Amino acid sequence: MTTAIHVQGLTKRYGDVQAVAGIDLEIKQGEVFAILGPNGAGKSTTVEILEGYRTRDAGEVLVLGTDPQKPTREWRTKLGIVLQTANDAAELTVREMVRHFAGYYPRSRDPDEVIAKVGLTEKADVRVRKLSGGQRRRVDVALGVIGNPQLLFLDEPTTGFDPEARRQFWDLIKGLAAEGTTILLTTHYLDEAEALAGRVAVIAKGRIVAEGDPATLGGRSSAKARVSWLGGSEETDTPTRLVQELADRFDGEIPGLAVSRPTLEDIYLTLIEAPHV
Ligand code: ADP
Repeated sequence: MTTAIHVQGLTKRYGDVQAVAGIDLEIKQGEVFAILGPNGAGKSTTVEILEGYRTRDAGEVLVLGTDPQKPTREWRTKLGIVLQTANDAAELTVREMVRHFAGYYPRSRDPDEVIAKVGLTEKADVRVRKLSGGQRRRVDVALGVIGNPQLLFLDEPTTGFDPEARRQFWDLIKGLAAEGTTILLTTHYLDEAEALAGRVAVIAKGRIVAEGDPATLGGRSSAKARVSWLGGSEETDTPTRLVQELADRFDGEIPGLAVSRPTLEDIYLTLIEAPHV
């Protein structure tokens, strides 16, 4: 597989604030990669440098083989960017807007297909201004993918969504990923990273403090399990054995039995609060 994003030793300072303090990233084509981190961690700065919207102080950056500080038109047409702020081009209908943007790209997708993909066929003739927040976000995604991008940037895509809208949105993103679009997503929802991303990087204070498969991040899969039951609770490396012992002790059903491992959120909170950060 070829590399979609290569970053080495990236730094960026604003006055006294070291927003990005030495980041390395290697993202392959076809990956869905999530950047997680608290507010102010340096996520937007990093992503905006990759998109070519901000300059860097130091480091190597290649996005689809091009240095974003030396962008070409051709390169720009291979990127899809969905920003945090929803568009407000109010008076156009969904179809007019998507068609309009299709005109900017040499290899654009069919507007009606894209509208269907984001689930807005029934709203195609409605003015964007009249849509709900979640529906407008879908328009944003439609505009992000209309150019048939190789690489899609999604900045906190589901902030403000209700749970059902988030699920639908995740299905949309999974569909794009299944078609082979490389996706770089920033989010502060742990479940979103877990649902969508093959790999995640946790950023705190401008550095990557953990990176990997969300299922194993920060030693999650090898962490002790907590076995609890009515009347007790114990952390153990051998939960199966403990459950057997309890079954013997209770002579059958163990009242209130539950076995759990740390959630991604538990691991994440430990990572971003660690004293070395
Ligand atoms: P995140 O996206 O993780 O919330 P940002 O990249 O937006 O983090 O910000 C990282 C740090 O850089 C923060 O301390 C923020 O206040 C600072 N910062 C971001 N943009 C600017 C800017 N244009 N000028 C000055 N400081 C900035």
